[in-house]
Amino acid sequence: MPAERSAVPIPILSFHSVTDRPGPDLATWSVTPARFGEHLDCLLDEGRTPLTVTDFVAAVAGRRELPERPVMVTFDDGYADFVPAADQMAARGIVSTLYVTTGPLVGSPTVGMPIAPMLTAEQLAPLEVLGVEIGAHSHHHFHIDVAPRSVALDEIGRPKAILEEVLRHPVTSFAYPHGSYSVAVRDQVRAAGYTSACAVRNAFSSIADDPFSLARLTVRDFTTTDTVRDWLQGRGAPIAPNRERWRTKVWRVRRWAAAGDSRRQAQR
Ligand SMILES: [Zn+2]
Repeated sequence: MPAERSAVPIPILSFHSVTDRPGPDLATWSVTPARFGEHLDCLLDEGRTPLTVTDFVAAVAGRRELPERPVMVTFDDGYADFVPAADQMAARGIVSTLYVTTGPLVGSPTVGMPIAPMLTAEQLAPLEVLGVEIGAHSHHHFHIDVAPRSVALDEIGRPKAILEEVLRHPVTSFAYPHGSYSVAVRDQVRAAGYTSACAVRNAFSSIADDPFSLARLTVRDFTTTDTVRDWLQGRGAPIAPNRERWRTKVWRVRRWAAAGDSRRQAQR
């Protein structure tokens, strides 16, 4: 693949809620249906081809064809107002990926997530028919990068099991709650059988992005359609540091850690 292709910005948009009447907690994370429709029309005007996140990483890995101008539309948390938003996307032939926090599906409490009506388990399979990929967004919505290892493993594994039980097929994409991840959490997500994971980072992804910390651009109540158009044209945000640089960084962190260990040993 030519080197310059890795420098082409690829937008992965991140939404939470589409409603005219958000509760106070959710307001800043919501866009109106009219505004959302503008964003979607803009996406098509700019000649973007929507993919699910799983199909995108498969294409980057060479397992399917990567369109010339890909875009991903993602939603986090699993609010009930996703159903009409999915209809707006389906009407335009736009596929998407919805990351569901599974606690609300089974009556478990969540942490740090706006209180709003949530999707039910029964609503998920019909969404797939509309072109929605269902991904996992933990069970309780903790910051899992600072949770004990066993808790993090449960937050990664349990939503996969619950969603696979509901959908009767593998669930392969994950989104970190609050966008928070660490090298350890990233490795746990991969080991759990996911093939991709979305972070936030407010930057463009690219074909050189790390498939387990894909960069996204968050669309909020104050995000104008002009801003979204800029992003769809590949402007107005940085490109996330590429995978090679990420590997270098991991290696450097490990090296610092090893150096710290040897310093401590030397001091004993
Ligand atoms: Zn979330």
